[in-house]
Amino acid sequence: MNKETRKAVIAGNWKMNKTPSETTALINEMKPLVADANCDVVLCVPFIDIAAAVEAAKGSNIKIGAENVHFKESGAYTGEVSAAMLKEAGVEYVVIGHSERRTYFGETDQTVNLRTLAALNAGLKPIICVGETLEQRELGYTETLLKFQTKMALTNVSAEDMKNVIIAYEPVWAIGTGVTATDDQADEGNGFVRAALLEKYGKDVAEATTIQYGGSMNAKNAESLVAKYNVDGGLIGGASLKAEDFSIIVKAASK
Ligand code: PEP
Repeated sequence: MNKETRKAVIAGNWKMNKTPSETTALINEMKPLVADANCDVVLCVPFIDIAAAVEAAKGSNIKIGAENVHFKESGAYTGEVSAAMLKEAGVEYVVIGHSERRTYFGETDQTVNLRTLAALNAGLKPIICVGETLEQRELGYTETLLKFQTKMALTNVSAEDMKNVIIAYEPVWAIGTGVTATDDQADEGNGFVRAALLEKYGKDVAEATTIQYGGSMNAKNAESLVAKYNVDGGLIGGASLKAEDFSIIVKAASK
């Protein structure tokens, strides 16, 4: 399996944007624009928007994701949402370990791993985010850090489960900053993640796993980024809030 046979996935991450009625309107606008996609199309939306998103996406090729999941099945965890709750609500994917969660909400490699296991256990597909800060890059730690984060996130995840795992390489310095990694930097970062999979699981899993790039991917730069060997689509923040821009990215990944 290689670039040609790996499934490209374009996933929007809406972050803390859109009310339920705005969700319905945006998905209705997007549906016809992405209907011909030759890649998987996912929208990860705030918890409160999930019901509206699932309803609006019905009958279309848009799949719905959440932006986080708690690792316990149930209990006294005020404000948290379990994997079973998401599954029953019609969610198929879930973003785990986004750098905003790591930076602002104390996510660690351990909790990222626990959330990944909980998601897989419930039949959800985790989109696990890894990425270095600018300081870590400048100190020369990018490869070491990406491999470490990848392997830590996948502790106790079997090779069989890897069929349902997506990893997103998201350099922290490129997220929401308008600064995009160059095509070669994205390919190299994704390649470090793939190398970690090779070390942990061997060639079959390493070559079959979808590894996205994320960090200011937009309608203008998507085509050359997703053309890179190791880049199997993207995790898109800002540009996923604009139907036309998002659809151009989906088209770029459909080639
Ligand atoms: C993200 O939220 O994962 C992201 C990549 O954001 P942006 O595209 O806005 O940089």
